[in-house]
Amino acid sequence: MPPEPDVKQPLLEVKGLVKHFHVGGGILGSPGGTVRAIDGIDFTIRRGETLGLVGESGCGKTTTGRCILRLEQPTGGRIVFEGRDITALGEVELRSVRRRMQVIFQDPYSSLNPRMSIGEILAEPLQVHGIVKDKAKRADRVRELLEQVGLLPRHAERYPHQLSGGQRQRVGIARALAMEPSLIICDEPVSALDVSIQAQIINLLEDLQARYHLTYLFIAHDLSVVRHISDRVAVMYLGKMVELADRQALYENPLHPYTRALLSAVPIPDPRMEARRERMVLRGEVPSPLNPPTGCVFHPRCPVAVGRCSAEIPPLREIKPGHWAACHLA
Ligand code: SF4
Repeated sequence: MPPEPDVKQPLLEVKGLVKHFHVGGGILGSPGGTVRAIDGIDFTIRRGETLGLVGESGCGKTTTGRCILRLEQPTGGRIVFEGRDITALGEVELRSVRRRMQVIFQDPYSSLNPRMSIGEILAEPLQVHGIVKDKAKRADRVRELLEQVGLLPRHAERYPHQLSGGQRQRVGIARALAMEPSLIICDEPVSALDVSIQAQIINLLEDLQARYHLTYLFIAHDLSVVRHISDRVAVMYLGKMVELADRQALYENPLHPYTRALLSAVPIPDPRMEARRERMVLRGEVPSPLNPPTGCVFHPRCPVAVGRCSAEIPPLREIKPGHWAACHLA
């Protein structure tokens, strides 16, 4: 078992992260421009915690995960992991960093080689990275990994198409664990699964976190999924961080109108409370990050916007200890 982490130390620091994509003009003469996928965000993940990162499709949360993994090169800002600035590391130096940082995808099927058995899929990184050099010991480790994620030794002989969606996600988790990471980026890991299976996978991730002192960045498009697992939750909108707080503060006292709107869409299990509560329906779609609104990027959809909202960008401010929001009215 790995040593107890120093929970006060940040494992990951993201400082002023920017990712812009330049898109060329189209064949019909459209001018092209710059997609502001991430527009200057800051956050820290402490050792052993789970930070939920939430927002609608296109808000920049997956790109944030890809920048941290250095699958995308940031346009600006810094990423510090385990005390080391990894923003500009070359491919060779990144190799050891990537071992410590793993990812679990929404659809493990597309990332599992259909021609390899589950045993081969799990043994491959152990061999390639020289984690377990001896073949017999690798087979033992594969059995151990299967057991850790709730699968049986016989699953090693199966192929990805012979498993259910939940079992395939367990393989995805086992493959991440094989690398003995300190950080796992969970990118919508349960969105493609049935609700009953979602709870099993989330419970498994929590058990593994407690056992192996893992730290998670848990990306999701709605607040119901991250509620159970997150210690803190960050909400993104159109490339910006709009709110960041401890789980309880965010769910019980959301300060940003966008967070309130997302929360009002989360179903309440009690039908009487569900019937009584007020719904906050957002107008329109998320605007294009190619041409974001002026001032507060949320102002065209905000139900409580005031005059200054379309002109002045609200900075992310610490409104209460540990509770940050970017809204003029917070
Ligand atoms: Fe709404 Fe204005 Fe606050 Fe933006 S700054 S969330 S537009 S009230």
